[in-house]
Amino acid sequence: MLLFKLIYSNGYYLPIGAHVFPAEKYRLIHDRLLASGVAEATDFLEPEPATDQDILLVHTPEYVHKLRTGTLSPLEEMELEIPYSPELVEAFWLAAGGSILAARQALTDRVSINIGGGFHHAFPDHGEGFCMIHDVAVAIRRMQRDGRIRTAMTVDCDVHHGNGTAAIFAGTRTRSEPLPSVSTSPLNREQPTANTMRRTHEGDVFTISLHQHNNYPAVKPPSSIDVDLPDGVGDDDYLAWLDNALSSGLRQFEPDLLCYIAGADPYREDQLGGLSLTMEGLKKRDELVFRVARARDIPVMVTFAGGYARNVEDTVAIQCNTVSAAKEVFVRGLSS
Ligand SMILES: [Zn+2]
Repeated sequence: MLLFKLIYSNGYYLPIGAHVFPAEKYRLIHDRLLASGVAEATDFLEPEPATDQDILLVHTPEYVHKLRTGTLSPLEEMELEIPYSPELVEAFWLAAGGSILAARQALTDRVSINIGGGFHHAFPDHGEGFCMIHDVAVAIRRMQRDGRIRTAMTVDCDVHHGNGTAAIFAGTRTRSEPLPSVSTSPLNREQPTANTMRRTHEGDVFTISLHQHNNYPAVKPPSSIDVDLPDGVGDDDYLAWLDNALSSGLRQFEPDLLCYIAGADPYREDQLGGLSLTMEGLKKRDELVFRVARARDIPVMVTFAGGYARNVEDTVAIQCNTVSAAKEVFVRGLSS
């Protein structure tokens, strides 16, 4: 039995037909975790859908009305890049409910993993890039509304920039000086201007995004820390940049909850990514985030975001490894 809960429902399946987004991955991850013995049936909790009131903590009434009544414009549906249906709306409300439950469980058990969610391209007034509702933002705002947390930090390791997250939590940010470079990384020498690590922050949610610069979205609203990685970055450089971003973020800000968006798409075999991480490197990435959070006693809630490996089994393996990494790092439980 795990010392933390996994949040999952068969309703996470996105009814989008044949699509580069592997909508069946959630069930495959669930099944593989059980078959491999990493988790048992009792480790899973089934979420309730978020309420409209929860969704409205982040999204505009106009947008929620359009989703509830099926009145998105053709342009809005095109931006979403997945076909609208009332069933799809239900799946996103459920994913948001799953992230709310994961956040709540993380505050009790130190870590919790939503086997779904991480829809970081959703904005308050529109969805895009396969993301209708920003489940992580909804979970943060719900925990704040309930008085469970005051501050949060998002650590977004999906290969794509967390544009929705940055826009939602932009708040009253002001731009500050660039961070010092990472001395252990050769990136500076190779691309002196490309790997900008920007730092901008004021507000109650601190946002970190490590992403491939030359990738969707074209417009990247500023996160508190943005690490714009050049194409082809491999394990060692990636881990050095992540370590630097986490250290820098946690020097500036003390979150009550860390929301780790653990996209599988920095993988070298990903169809929508251009970084070169190995499966082992991705697991080290997960371990790094968990170790840093554990050392500082910051609760972590995890969502899975993107993953478009040529072989869907690779995406499933990477996301199962995130659960294994949490199991290994948090093995000693609350007493240690
Ligand atoms: Zn992605």
